[in-house]
Amino acid sequence: MTVTGHRRMSVLIPRNGLPPEILDRIVLLLVSDTAGFTAIASLSLVSWQFRQLAFRRYYATLRVRSARHWVRSCRIDGMYSWVRSLDTSTPFFQYKLDALSRFASLQDLTLDFSADGLATQRSRCLLLFKNVAAGLSSLKLTHLPRIDVTLLSLLAGRFPSLSNLDLSCTERLDEQCCWLCYEESSSCVVHSPIPDCFPSAERLAVCNSLSAVTPDHLPSHLQSVFGNALKPLRKLEHLFLGIFLSGADMLNCHFDRCATVVISSPRTGWYSSPPFGPDRCEICLVEHGATVRERERIASALLAKLLPSLETIGWSTYFAKDRPGDDVERKATVFARDSLEGKAAMGRRGSALDKAG
Ligand SMILES: [Zn+2]
Ligand SMILES: [Zn+2]
Repeated sequence: MTVTGHRRMSVLIPRNGLPPEILDRIVLLLVSDTAGFTAIASLSLVSWQFRQLAFRRYYATLRVRSARHWVRSCRIDGMYSWVRSLDTSTPFFQYKLDALSRFASLQDLTLDFSADGLATQRSRCLLLFKNVAAGLSSLKLTHLPRIDVTLLSLLAGRFPSLSNLDLSCTERLDEQCCWLCYEESSSCVVHSPIPDCFPSAERLAVCNSLSAVTPDHLPSHLQSVFGNALKPLRKLEHLFLGIFLSGADMLNCHFDRCATVVISSPRTGWYSSPPFGPDRCEICLVEHGATVRERERIASALLAKLLPSLETIGWSTYFAKDRPGDDVERKATVFARDSLEGKAAMGRRGSALDKAG
């Protein structure tokens, strides 16, 4: 071993003789405890080296709880190299937004857009994402007012290393209070962009063609718009687009039909039933369930064809079933391989029909 090697070892091995790897494992076990910072508080007081190990693990995930918490976190020495995963909300960056660009090791970013609206989403995204490290591998945006080509193009151009992209609008629908709140919340989010919620002709074309989807008529427009916007993401493995592929009219009809239902109360007499979604409405299930599931499968097949690295594609849905990929949180996941095989089968059926014609 060289002299330099000896010197390096003497710096790395603490006086108690425990190798740093073992210490690191101990810290990892402590941090995984739910006790929070108290779990590592004593350990961080032992020595400078113990403190560095403890903080590096503890701050690997930073959940920002307020604007003040963000500002205070940015003052901690070493924070910019420790944080790998950041979970926060957009208004917390009202101060020290430029500090975001110093998180050079950031791999995983989760952002809550509840505080933004349809008018502010674009400018907020432009401002935020130019300050985020381009090497991001996982990005999750929740409570988005809309998912459109502008957003997809921005993300694909800014973060080419993404392997996991999770965008969602539909959790902005408020079913916790009353029918009025449910309906009002639905007007502030593009939860179902089919058939004509998009402002430009190009995007309208996508939606119109999607509304006319049949198993033997695959819309190429979806590929040319959503798919092309995401095409720079060559490492993308998991994509979730939290929009409903049911028509926007379906929810409006559901409001008209079901919001007027009143039920009896033994204490207060009669009152309107608590709000519920089309997934608990027999009429909506029968009228739209099968069509929407078929749309989800076809749209997934189109995206999987254009984005070969994809393994799973998810959508928000009111029609999840008891089967692999579906869950009670109104999400449907299509496995890309399955959808590609489905697409190939449809292609064979289409060419057979052509010959027969
Ligand atoms: Zn209400
Ligand atoms: Zn209904």
